[in-house]
Amino acid sequence: MRVNAYAAPSAGEPLAPTTIERRPVGENDVLIAIEYAGICHSDIHTVNGDWGPQPFPVVPGHEIVGRVTEIGSAVTDHQVGDRVGVGCFVNSCRECDNCRNGDEQHCSTPGGGVGTYAAKDHDGSFTQGGYSTHVVVDAHFALKVPESMDAAAATPLLCAGITTYAPLKRWGAGPGKKVAIVGLGGLGHMGVKIAHAMGAEVTVLSQSLKKQEDGLRLGADHYYATSDPATFETLKNSFDLIVNTVSAEIPVDDYLGLLAVDGTLVNVGAPPAPLSVNVFSLLTNRRNFAGSMIGGIPLTQEMLDFCAEHGIGADVEVISAEQINEAYARVLASDVRYRFVIDTATLA
Ligand code: NAP
Ligand code: ZN
Repeated sequence: MRVNAYAAPSAGEPLAPTTIERRPVGENDVLIAIEYAGICHSDIHTVNGDWGPQPFPVVPGHEIVGRVTEIGSAVTDHQVGDRVGVGCFVNSCRECDNCRNGDEQHCSTPGGGVGTYAAKDHDGSFTQGGYSTHVVVDAHFALKVPESMDAAAATPLLCAGITTYAPLKRWGAGPGKKVAIVGLGGLGHMGVKIAHAMGAEVTVLSQSLKKQEDGLRLGADHYYATSDPATFETLKNSFDLIVNTVSAEIPVDDYLGLLAVDGTLVNVGAPPAPLSVNVFSLLTNRRNFAGSMIGGIPLTQEMLDFCAEHGIGADVEVISAEQINEAYARVLASDVRYRFVIDTATLA
C-alpha cells in the first residue's frame, strides 16, 4: 500500500512530504495505523549524516504509537484494535543467543538486526520509519501500550523511555542510590522521571539553570549547571550512577570525577566524534565507564508497564508534519520541552 510520509531527501536537506510503499501484511505481520511519532535526536543525527552515509530518501521515526488495523494469519498476540508501539528495531534473527535472551537490539547475526528506518531488512528492502500514516511490522516487534496511557505521552517511551530505563535498572537505581542525569532533553527528562519512580535521589546536570523549575517538577531532588565550574567541586566523588544523555561531546573526565567508589558513568548520548578518557579518572575510586543502547523487546514491555503503573509519560509538544523542520532546529538548540511528537493525522 502507498502511504503518506515525510522524508529527508538527502543529508542535511529539509524533510518534505512524500509517499512510500508499505509491504503487504505477511502471516506474522501487523499493520499499524500510526497516531503519533516522536522526534528523537537520533533522527537528526541520521538525516544530517552525523553517523555516516544513509540510503536516502529516509523517513525517520522510531517512536511510534498507533492501532492495529490488520493482522496476519499466524498472529496470536495482537488483535485488530489493539494499541501498540514500535521502537528502534523491526526485525532480528530471533535465533542467536542475544535474541533468545531478549537482547534483540544486539542481534549477533550479520544483517539480522534491522533498525526501524534506513536499515536493510531481510528481504533486501530498506526500512522507512514512523513519520508516516501506517507501518507493517512483524508482530514480535510490536509492543503493547496500555490503554490507561495518553497515546502522545506514551510515544517517546519507545526510545527515550527504554534508553534511560535500561541503564537505570541495570546499574541499580533505587532507594539509597544517588543518580545524576546529564542533559535535560528528550532522554534526560525521561531519565529523571524513571529514576525518581525507582526511588533514587536524582540530580540533573544541565548546561544552565534555565530549566531548573521543570527539572524539580519532573522529579529531580537537585539541579546544577555544568557551565559553573563550582558544580564539579561541590559534587566530587558523590554519585553511584551518572547517565549521560548529551548529544555532543562532553569532558568525560570531569564527569567521572563526580563518581563515588565503584560508581558508573553510562553513556547513552551518541555524538559523532570520539570521547577521550584519562585512565586515572577510572583508576581513582575504581570507576566504570559504560554504554547502553535502547533495550530488547521484553525489557521495553516491562518499561511500558512500569510507566503505566507509575503514571509516567513524556512531556510532549504535539506538532503537525509541516513543523518537523522547525522542531529539528529547536532540538539542535536544546529548545525542547521535552519531546516533539508528530500528530500523523496531519500527514493525511
Ligand atoms: P535532546 O532532546 O536534544 O537532548 C540532549 C540534551 O543534551 C539537550 O537537551 C541538552 O540538555 C544537552 N546538550 C545538547 N548539546 C549539548 C552540548 N553541546 N553540551 C552539553 N550539553 C548539551 O536529545 P535526545 O533525543 O534526548 O538524545 C540525546 C542523545 O542520545 C543523542 O545523541 C541521541 O542520538 C542519543 N540516543 C541514544 C540512544 C541509545 O540507545 N544509546 C537512544 C536514543 C538516543 P541541557 O539543555 O539540559 O544541557
Ligand atoms: Zn531514539
